[in-house]
Parts: sequence; structure tokens; C-alpha cells
Amino acid sequence: MLSYIDRGGFDAVKMRVGIADGTVEASIRRVLAAREALGPSIALMVDAHGTHSVAEAKRFCRGVAEAHLAWYEEPVSPDDKRGLAEVRAATDIPIAAGESEFTRFDFRDLIELRAVDILQPDLAICGGITEGMRIVALAAAYQLQVAPHLWGGALLFAAGLQLAAACPSVFILEYSLGANPMLHELGQEPVAIEKGAILIPDRPGLGVTVNEEFVARYTVPRRG
Ligand SMILES: [Mg+2]
Repeated sequence: MLSYIDRGGFDAVKMRVGIADGTVEASIRRVLAAREALGPSIALMVDAHGTHSVAEAKRFCRGVAEAHLAWYEEPVSPDDKRGLAEVRAATDIPIAAGESEFTRFDFRDLIELRAVDILQPDLAICGGITEGMRIVALAAAYQLQVAPHLWGGALLFAAGLQLAAACPSVFILEYSLGANPMLHELGQEPVAIEKGAILIPDRPGLGVTVNEEFVARYTVPRRG
């Protein structure tokens, strides 16, 4: 995580927790170690990818209280919205969710159940840019924050960046420095990062040009 901060000047980083750690206690130890290494001024988020039970999620929140997490993402299965609300009611760690929800109606349900602090619509899943704008408007009406989910590739990232530029409820953008050719090679223009901030392109449309050579390289011919 320190190397990511060195490379991009970021002031926030996110780590995986949950089932891959084996136990909740192991996740807690990893988070506390990360906080100690990062110091107090770097925001630290965690993502359980829906792999904790409600009880495990509550135990995790108690265990990492001193790490001052910026958010705890998908503590429990996205199919258990009531469980998510129960976790949120038990902690003051902001709860983030929504990357696999469809349309404003799913997000309305999350909001009405008081299950989230941070909505994470994925524009490739939630219904596109127009539906994303509706979801962001809902967030604003309920004084919630938005962090678009944009890990699927360069076009999705570019769309999420435009949403962020147009909507004050979007307070942060995630950018992966891990191996991800769909994100890093599908677009011709490199993502411009300066001191942890992403510069908004002024090119037309999404501001990204598809790298046709990349597409050709990964195209699988249809059989028969
Ligand atoms: Mg996630």
C-alpha cells in the first residue's frame, strides 16, 4: 500500500478483507497493521466483497475501531440488504455498497432500509450514465455520498469519471494500479494522475479513444 502511495501520490488506499483471510481476527490484524504502517493521515478503506456474515461484520467493526476506516464495503452479501442495514446500525464506520445493484429502484431500497452511507453504482450494471445520474440525485436528496464502481475497464472508468465531474455527491474515485489490461490498455490515452487527483479529460464524449489493436489482440473469433 505504501508503494501505491509512492507511485501516485494518493491519500487513500483500499484493501481486501473477508473470507480470503480465513478468520475475522486475521482480517482485523491485517487492517490494524495497515493502519500502523500508513500512519494517521492516509484514508483506509476495506472491501469484504460480501463475504462476512452479519455477526462477523459486527465483530470486524469492533475489532478495527481504532483504524478509523473511511469505509467498509460490501460487508455482507448484496442479497441481504436488511443484514447490511443491521451492520450499519451497529457501527459508525461508513458502509459502502451497490456495485452489483440494478437501476435507481435497487438503490432506493438500500437507502430506504438505511443500509448505506456511500452508494457505489457501476454504470455498466446500474443502467448507464442516465440511470447513474438518477441514482446520484437520490443520494443527494438523502445526504449520502457516491463513489462510482469503475473497475471493469477503460470505458467504464471514463464514464465514471464524467459522472464524478458532474455530481458533487461523488467525493472520491478509485483507480487500480494492479494488473488490469482492460483498464490500462483498452484506452489509447493514459489516465492522468497528479498528486492523487485524476485530471478530467476535455476530449469529446467519454474522452477516451479505443485502442483497436488491443481489441483485435483479445478478440475471440466466433465458431461456426
Ligand atoms: Mg467492491
